[in-house]
Amino acid sequence: MNMKIDPWSALIIEDYSKLFEEFGILPFDNVLSEIPNPHRYMRRKVIFGHRDYDMIADAMNNSKPFSVMSGFMPSGKIHLGHKMVMEEIIWHQQQGADAFVGIADREAHAVRGISWERCRDIGIEEYIISLIALGFEPKGHIYFQSDSQQVKDLAFELGSKANFSELSAIYGFTGETSVSHMLSAVTQSADILHPQLEEYGGPKPTVIPVGADQDPHIRLTRGLGNKMNMLKIERRKDKEGNGYFSIRSKTASQESMKELQERIPGRTKLFEGHLDVQDCDNFDELLRIVREVELRSGGYAFVPPCSTYHRFMSGLQGGKMSSSVPESYISLTEDPKEAAKKVKRAKTGGRMTLEEQKKLGGEPGKCSVYELLMFHLVEDEEELALIYSECVGGQKVCGNCKALAAERMERFLREHQELREHAKDRLEEYGLKRK
Ligand code: SF4
Repeated sequence: MNMKIDPWSALIIEDYSKLFEEFGILPFDNVLSEIPNPHRYMRRKVIFGHRDYDMIADAMNNSKPFSVMSGFMPSGKIHLGHKMVMEEIIWHQQQGADAFVGIADREAHAVRGISWERCRDIGIEEYIISLIALGFEPKGHIYFQSDSQQVKDLAFELGSKANFSELSAIYGFTGETSVSHMLSAVTQSADILHPQLEEYGGPKPTVIPVGADQDPHIRLTRGLGNKMNMLKIERRKDKEGNGYFSIRSKTASQESMKELQERIPGRTKLFEGHLDVQDCDNFDELLRIVREVELRSGGYAFVPPCSTYHRFMSGLQGGKMSSSVPESYISLTEDPKEAAKKVKRAKTGGRMTLEEQKKLGGEPGKCSVYELLMFHLVEDEEELALIYSECVGGQKVCGNCKALAAERMERFLREHQELREHAKDRLEEYGLKRK
């Protein structure tokens, strides 16, 4: 990882390095240069890791179809952490993705016991209205899990490939866990995979922007998607050590395997339940043919979902943001003046005395005000770099920084809340309505 000191090194990236080693998440730096016009979270290493994002970059660069999908559990106030995910979805939509946003009411009902009516209310009033106000376009899809027959049907299908041991290893389920709770876990996987259903244009790369803690869902879903696929391609070696591909299936008919054999160029050999392909030098073409045959045979041919991982914002008082501690976060619907006061009370990376601050410089890596500026309030790279260098160089005092952040936060919230008022009148464009 690049740990050199720059304006973004304030991020505590080492906390996440375990994810790279243990779970095979790749550093986002690897794909950054392939992304046209990267989002500020990408440029600033707020998004630090990914799985298979090169497929998304390829789709963006070559005008191929791709999707973006994420969900929100309707259980409380919409805050700046949710805004981050929404911005990532909207940015991908602007880059050409078919965009999906699911309101996870089944999860909120099963896990938190929130009534259906309240789920709908919070889903629309908190999340969807802000999503629209932030710029989500009507060509995308906003839905409640409980309304989507496709998601519910797919969840049931995926459930046939998930067992209790697997779910309990990921989510800590015990013998006391309700069946609805378990079902809500596979419903999340259905949310992630359903943009690839035929109704939405079939298999395609789909990126799921998530926080670093959400990777278990992604791993589960990638595994389930693979299990659902009828045809699987394996790379193998023969006795002489020569590589070949073996297309294997326990469920495809022998007719489908024969069709595969006819369509795949090069030397092939058909066996019961598998087709071996020698001399294939175009894997993408092989994959395309395999997916086409699978779709015609009634399979899903899911592309494993891609993901990006962003780091979390810390609480305004330091530590974690917590919905039970209003002082720790800023909600997009709260009074802008009160929010500005919270910013002024936030924990900084400043030193105990002005003298020390001048001598040693501040510590933006420990400063929640700097985080607000970097994540939300400063778009211009040069401006942020100047704040950083003046902070570490001891030329900046925290009072000035707080005043700047408070003023921008108040302005952002005031403007956002005005846009929310317009968004309330636009719900029908998205196929939704308030109570
Ligand atoms: Fe944070 Fe600004 Fe103080 Fe530096 S000067 S520690 S960035 S508030």
